[in-house]
Amino acid sequence: MMKSDAAQAEPEGFQGKKNIYVCEKCKGHIVTVDLERGVTPFMVDCRATHGCKGMMKSSMYRVFDQEIRADHEWYRPTAIQTLSPWERDHVSRGGLLLRKAKHLSVVK
Ligand SMILES: [Zn+2]
Repeated sequence: MMKSDAAQAEPEGFQGKKNIYVCEKCKGHIVTVDLERGVTPFMVDCRATHGCKGMMKSSMYRVFDQEIRADHEWYRPTAIQTLSPWERDHVSRGGLLLRKAKHLSVVK
C-alpha cells in the first residue's frame, strides 16, 4: 500500500518512457521521452503544426511500441531564472519542461 503523502513527495516517474501527445484541433501529434524523473502535464500547447492554437492531450504513456523515436523531450532546466512564472512554479513542484529532441535541433 502506498501512502498518498509519500507519492506526493516523490512523484511517479516515467524516466526513459515514450509518450504521444495528440492535438485536439489539427490532430497532429508529437512523440516525447522523459529524460528525467518528474511530472509532465496532461495538456500542452500544440507543437505539431506551426501556428495551431489547439491543445495536445497526453496518451498517458500508453504507447504500443516504446522503440518509437521521440521528436520532443521532457527535461529539467538547470537555470530557472530564465523561465516564465508558470514554468518556474511547475518546475519547483517537480515538473519537467518540453523541448525539441537534441538530435533534431542539431540537424536543423
Ligand atoms: Zn494542433
